[in-house]
Amino acid sequence: MKVTLAAACGFCYGVRRAVELAGQAEKGTHTLGPIIHNPQVVGRLAAHGVSPVDSLDDVDKGAVILIRSHGVGPDVYEQADQKELKVIDATCPHVKKAQQDAKNIVEKGEKLIIVGEKSHPEVISISQWGANRAIIIDREEEAEKIPFCDSMGVVVQTTFSQEQFKRIAAILQRKTNHLDVHMTICTATQQRQQAAIELAGHVDAMIVIGGKNSANTGRLAQVCREQDCPTYHIETAAELDTAWFRGMNHIGITAGASTPDWIIQEVV
Ligand code: SF4
Repeated sequence: MKVTLAAACGFCYGVRRAVELAGQAEKGTHTLGPIIHNPQVVGRLAAHGVSPVDSLDDVDKGAVILIRSHGVGPDVYEQADQKELKVIDATCPHVKKAQQDAKNIVEKGEKLIIVGEKSHPEVISISQWGANRAIIIDREEEAEKIPFCDSMGVVVQTTFSQEQFKRIAAILQRKTNHLDVHMTICTATQQRQQAAIELAGHVDAMIVIGGKNSANTGRLAQVCREQDCPTYHIETAAELDTAWFRGMNHIGITAGASTPDWIIQEVV
């Protein structure tokens, strides 16, 4: 049976950097929240003495704390400073840019709109850099409800869909005299989705590897199913069932941005 790996899959730049920094961190380092949405990676790091905490209140004075790729608001840096913590900042540079853009928009006096999932840690961190003044939306109906204003600045969650954003931006155009769009969508997600769509179109079945709680992995599985391709979302090779592939000749594999290479290789 032929097995083909999608042209772009697995760790994106920001996640690879964060996981590498965590891997090099000294024993006793804490990550603020799980480093990525992948239980196997979190488990491996915990075995090396790098474990997650929910808040800086759970960390001793002078400890080492690692900020993950989603980033955090300015309050966390201030609190870390007060507790004399050593900070390893693994915020993805693309997320940093979105945070700075949000800050600049508010400082210029423009109305700040963030297009993204309200409860996602990255969106929360961007909103905090925008002094918590943002209106956060991810659907066209919500854009329609925004009152007219003179000047509006827009920042987008890095993993947001380009197509959905275009529809929302077209509505926002009617809601202001001056629309300042900061295109902060990162191409890593789009490249992975595009490669998955292409592969799903000419294989008998797709395997999508990644945390069951990873939004970008879930989206990869969804785009494969939309190609009418039988699709299985798994976290590790242990979940593979040979019965799925009976009578099939060609299987495609892709993986979310938080899936490490060693898990992908095991599945292959
Ligand atoms: S998806 Fe893009 S923005 Fe998000 S962590 Fe990866 S490289 Fe950074």
